[in-house]
Amino acid sequence: MIKYNTYNRNCLRLSLFCFAAATGLLFIIFMYGCGSVGTIKSQINDLTFQQENLPVRTIRVAIANDNSREEQEINALLQEASNSLREQVGIELNRVMTKPIKWSTRTPEGMVEDMRKNFSTLEKRQFDIAIASVTYTASDKGLQLLGLILPIPVWDGCIDSTYRRYIVIKKLDKNILLHEIFHSLIFSEDHDTGGVMHAVQIQIVPGVPLNITEYLTPEDRKESLKNKWRNFNQIARSN
Ligand SMILES: [Zn+2]
Repeated sequence: MIKYNTYNRNCLRLSLFCFAAATGLLFIIFMYGCGSVGTIKSQINDLTFQQENLPVRTIRVAIANDNSREEQEINALLQEASNSLREQVGIELNRVMTKPIKWSTRTPEGMVEDMRKNFSTLEKRQFDIAIASVTYTASDKGLQLLGLILPIPVWDGCIDSTYRRYIVIKKLDKNILLHEIFHSLIFSEDHDTGGVMHAVQIQIVPGVPLNITEYLTPEDRKESLKNKWRNFNQIARSN
């Protein structure tokens, strides 16, 4: 039986804070600068850095489609994420199959389990990671509104903790998808204090993240490169 750790570990959460919290956060941002500080952003044009990313690995992507998103939106998101992955760690995404999905639940651990069940054993060998891009439910939207006055977290993306290959994202956002994909390559820790693997996306104005960047920290990139060629049919662990 597949066991999932508490979904908190691998879910990217969104927090909306009231104005008082905003003042404190703006101070922190002033102190630490933008979200890209401490990441590999400044190195991406270095020749040595680019050579470390070779050879490029193509990761085969299966899409689980519940018809809540347009095909063009999903393809555009995959392309954006693929461009960033190629630049940072030499990985490209290639969409190889699509399968309809019906959700039995809307909990993150239940949704990744639905994803696992949706793909047969045979199909599992034909893709590396599976992604479902879904829309927020009415109750999610209610929680988001409540989050304007109370620090109530709403999850935006998650991945299973066993195979680290079944991803659900609720927000059509490249950085959230990248965050979940890097969970499939980073096992030594779940979240970092900086870079794209930061645990929480902080928003004061809805839709405008303050702390998240698409870039990894140097340590997270090192581990991603180490696990870049992992077999996604096997339980996730460091090579
Ligand atoms: Zn996470």
